[in-house]
Amino acid sequence: MTATNTVEGLIIDGRKAGASDGGALDVYDPSTGQVLARVAKATRADIDRAVAAARRAMEAKDWGGLAPAERGRVLFRIAQAIRDRAEELAVLESRDNGKPLRQARTDVQVAARYFEFYGGVADKILGTTIPMGPGLLDFTVREPIGVSAQIVPWNYPIQIGSRGVAPALAAGCAVVMKPSSEAPMTALRLGEIGLECGLPPGALNIVPGTGSEAGVALASHPGVNQITFTGSVEVGVAVAKMAAENVVPVVMELGGKSPNVVFADADADLAVQGVAKAIFQNAGQTCSAGSRLLVERKAHGAFVERLVAHTRAMKLGPGVDDPDMGPIISKRQLETIEQYVAVGQKEGARVAAGGRRPADTNLPGGFYYEPTLLDEVTPAMRVAQEEIFGPVLAILTFDEVEEAAEIANDSVYGLVAGVWTRDINKALALAERIKSGQVFVNTYGAGGGVEMPFGGYKKSGYGREKSLEALASYTQTKNVCIRYT
Ligand code: NAD
Repeated sequence: MTATNTVEGLIIDGRKAGASDGGALDVYDPSTGQVLARVAKATRADIDRAVAAARRAMEAKDWGGLAPAERGRVLFRIAQAIRDRAEELAVLESRDNGKPLRQARTDVQVAARYFEFYGGVADKILGTTIPMGPGLLDFTVREPIGVSAQIVPWNYPIQIGSRGVAPALAAGCAVVMKPSSEAPMTALRLGEIGLECGLPPGALNIVPGTGSEAGVALASHPGVNQITFTGSVEVGVAVAKMAAENVVPVVMELGGKSPNVVFADADADLAVQGVAKAIFQNAGQTCSAGSRLLVERKAHGAFVERLVAHTRAMKLGPGVDDPDMGPIISKRQLETIEQYVAVGQKEGARVAAGGRRPADTNLPGGFYYEPTLLDEVTPAMRVAQEEIFGPVLAILTFDEVEEAAEIANDSVYGLVAGVWTRDINKALALAERIKSGQVFVNTYGAGGGVEMPFGGYKKSGYGREKSLEALASYTQTKNVCIRYT
């Protein structure tokens, strides 16, 4: 574990360095409430240096000018190095974010998979030839878009960081990544691994800092050519406005209030497991959390009873002890969750499980909240509409497929949806009607889903990450037309 009397440096231009003003962030372990590490806090001047270093790497022969297959090989080495250090990274992620160790282990494997996947496509970013008739040769080249700024949240730091960094590097871009000040540790390790594996100085810069200083400086920087932002709608809108000033494209991965629709004919064992995991993974602090359960009215009583039993049996504890659920990221977030549960009760929802901080006196002084089921929720309630970002499931009922679709779509968000049924017609009817970027049937997620396009409809954002589609964000198309005789 990192000593708390030393300050971890930023990674800029291939070197570790303190912040320009010597400032540092205290990084907390949410499982204990204690300081885990101290990390240099990037200033505007540090962001200037990082962007300048990335611009140089873009132009340099050893990155921007490297043969694509060579870039791919560097990414493969990063993937392998992540796997070689998997346990160390998982423990660090678990301490930094509070998530159960096995979830952190999965995140690390998914991070490695991103580098492997995009390492494999670095030399397959193809252009097209366009038939223009005799005497004209027309073709397109997909060139790197330039310096990519990546602003990352605290909930899946290594996974979300790798999701943006790997395709950007594969395309030949250079990156400046600002992890969240709440959980920056594995991002710094990723920067070190990149250098060890052959990324030249400046190709990947890691600059932890606050949103109000480092985040704003990066999002508004004229030396940035593209922004990938993952976070809340409110900050996303601010970032998009800054990007607009520089006429720079943005990938927006924002929040969600994703529905899990359970029909009476569903495999109940599978559905209970799936619905619980969809909301309680990472203590509900997941953009794609299945935070609304829509259950067919005639199955409601039996299904909720099973879900209550499952939820009450869940063990809470420090992430590194690998419990069923870890703590919330911060005291502030814990208080927000408490307020939402109180609002739900005032609106008429019934707490069917949880609904409080745990009474367990054996838990250390972390930020714990019990996994919570709010039953008898109706679509207009705030707890059915607003993203709580905690382990709180809002339970609603429906009678018909059409009504399920209507309730599912009664949201400003549209990130992910789940449907649980044995009837393929119902499944496809909802897959067609639900307005969200992903629909899962009888599953919710599929491993890391690296191969599948991911992104939002409506206020869940725009642009797609993961899969081959992500490459569109990191390339720009040049058309070349030649007249010949
Ligand atoms: P946040 O919006 O508060 O912060 C996200 C990042 O933006 C952090 O690095 C933060 O420091 C930075 N930031 C804050 N203010 C900024 C500003 N003015 N300018 C530039 N950068 C700024 O979000 P969070 O609390 O870290 O994460 C939770 C939110 O993220 C939730 O709404 C969640 O749904 C969303 N999220 C979405 C996805 C997705 O892929 N769609 C994934 C994870 C989290």
